[in-house]
Amino acid sequence: MTFTLAIVGRPNVGKSTLFNRLVGKRLALVDDQPGVTRDLREGEARLGPLRFTVIDTAGLEEATDESLQGRMRKLTERAVEMADACLFLIDARAGVLPTDEVFADILRRKNAHVILAANKSEGRAAEAGLIEAWGLGLGEPLALSAEHGEGMAELAAVLTPIA
Ligand code: GDP
Ligand code: MG
Repeated sequence: MTFTLAIVGRPNVGKSTLFNRLVGKRLALVDDQPGVTRDLREGEARLGPLRFTVIDTAGLEEATDESLQGRMRKLTERAVEMADACLFLIDARAGVLPTDEVFADILRRKNAHVILAANKSEGRAAEAGLIEAWGLGLGEPLALSAEHGEGMAELAAVLTPIA
């Protein structure tokens, strides 16, 4: 049995970096700057013994302030509907921002199966953000570093019951 995992969260938390790590090909664009047009992106992920479909919810990076809320809501809702589970990323270095709360509400409303992860968790600068993530009320946050490949075994462990 395989499953579909949607990586969701506000721009710049590291969704595409994680997607690229899981898919192993440069299919999703990673950019330091907001301002690049992308939509939903699908790839075949490998993580330990797991094989699954992963969706990167890009396409939020180019939204203007006035359209961001509506656009990200629509895109995230679409991804949630396509997926069996959602990996909701926050940036552990930035902590929980109001936009993260907006995403948490979208996921709650859609009754999504949510796995919360605090990305950019390498190093001590991430400790406070990881603790803050508990406040989203979505359970224990996984500490990940998409860039450095940390937390991948823990991610595989939480995905295994879904597979
Ligand atoms: P997205 O907008 O959510 O898709 O985020 P990106 O994957 O484009 O990443 C945004 C920025 O965060 C890029 O500069 C990445 O190199 C950086 N980034 C991604 N993952 C990590 C991580 O685990 N640690 C750190 N320190 N930076 C990361
Ligand atoms: Mg991206």
